[in-house]
Amino acid sequence: MKIAVIGAGIIGVTTAYELASDGHEVTVLERCGAAAEEASFANAGLVAPGYVTPWAAPGMPTKVLGHLLSHYAPVKVGLPLSGRDMVWMWKWLRACNLDTYLAHRAQLQRLAFYSRERLHHLTSELSLEYERSDGYMVLLRSEHDSKLAQPGLQVLRDAGVMFKEISPVDARKVEPALNPDTSFFGAIHLPDDEVGNCRQFALLLKNKAQRLGVDFQFNTEVKRVACANGASIDVAGESGPRRYDALVMCAGLASAHLLAPLGLKIPLTAVHGYSVSASIREPLNAPRSAVMDERYKVAISRLGQRVRVAGSAELGGTADKMRASSLQTLYKVLQDWFPGAANLSGGVQEWKGARPMMPNGPPMIGASGLAGLWLNLGHGSSGWALSCGSARALADLLGNKQPDLDLTGFGAKRLRK
Ligand SMILES: Cc1cc2nc3c(=O)[nH]c(=O)nc-3n(C[C@H](O)[C@H](O)[C@H](O)COP(=O)(O)OP(=O)(O)OC[C@H]3O[C@@H](n4cnc5c(N)ncnc54)[C@H](O)[C@@H]3O)c2cc1C
Repeated sequence: MKIAVIGAGIIGVTTAYELASDGHEVTVLERCGAAAEEASFANAGLVAPGYVTPWAAPGMPTKVLGHLLSHYAPVKVGLPLSGRDMVWMWKWLRACNLDTYLAHRAQLQRLAFYSRERLHHLTSELSLEYERSDGYMVLLRSEHDSKLAQPGLQVLRDAGVMFKEISPVDARKVEPALNPDTSFFGAIHLPDDEVGNCRQFALLLKNKAQRLGVDFQFNTEVKRVACANGASIDVAGESGPRRYDALVMCAGLASAHLLAPLGLKIPLTAVHGYSVSASIREPLNAPRSAVMDERYKVAISRLGQRVRVAGSAELGGTADKMRASSLQTLYKVLQDWFPGAANLSGGVQEWKGARPMMPNGPPMIGASGLAGLWLNLGHGSSGWALSCGSARALADLLGNKQPDLDLTGFGAKRLRK
């Protein structure tokens, strides 16, 4: 089939690769000048399937309210809040009940484990060499933080995830550079999880996809999508529509805007986050892999010769305005755990990205309900961890094959609820 993929973030690139490897003729249309320039650009890089959970969880609304006035808060509400943000918050509140949460968490984790398998398969089959390290450790500052983590540990046990609750002494064996002056209660070590450079992976996979014949067209903005007389798109600066056998929407946050004129109301909103990346000053003082400060929800990752600190979840606000207190939280957490690890005196990359978040958790993967239009979008805070599995599953559905995982609940049917 002749297929257009809209968007070359991590979701669009993995989707294009899988479709091309099934023998389709694929064109990727991307408004930026390169792949992975938006949400996929500088994320934390965590691939920790047992920790992939919906944002809509019991107790979350109280947590959000509780953090409103705190300087180093992991969750913030920014202004202005758009009408879309308000509708999203209402749907999110409605999904914060236990039954909905449990169902969505199970769905997400199913996809996350499948996705990690697929990531490993592609990495070894294609000999992709990108910055990555094995192992993930969640740092618990106090006994209270440890108690709060217990329900999550039960989830890991139920999912059969390999983890250990360890003492600070053992945590320092895993990460010898942890600041000796910072005392903490303990840690959860997940040796099978990993951290990897999402953007680098996307760029490498893009090259492999090109070898399979995928045509990546950058600086190409899709203005309109239509399905009435076959699938077609209008591209900025072109006089007539382009026609395809199928379109796959992988435009991240912009998908909602592109799909609205077709009557598909996708409740996507931006949950902004930040990262700081800096070169390693002294390797002995740097993390070996990834840690998460559970209290501040800040991840510190080793990506090759750089340290990346990422976190904060900000509802509302705008993409171009950096909130000073969110960046300060990242620097504080880095200083608490790995002082002297990074060279912060120059060449530091500060980044703000928008997680394309659905109010209830799982992304939308599958047929849209409109002829020729397919969806792979709304991966929220775990798009990198979910990308390879989502792409494979979408390619299977589009090729009329049974995917290797149960996709109940990921389809467009839920838009009608
Ligand atoms: C601070 C932070 C930390 C994160 N940490 C992690 C993590 O540790 N692990 C994890 O799994 N995930 C993490 N994420 C989430 C992850 O980064 C996202 O879920 C993922 O990048 C979304 O990918 P995407 O391809 O859907 O969107 P994007 O990367 O935004 O790609 C969409 C693409 O579509 C293009 N596009 C949009 N409109 C058009 C148009 N009209 N025409 C042509 N092209 C168009 C855009 O230019 C863009 O390139 C994090 C996110 C943030 C912000």
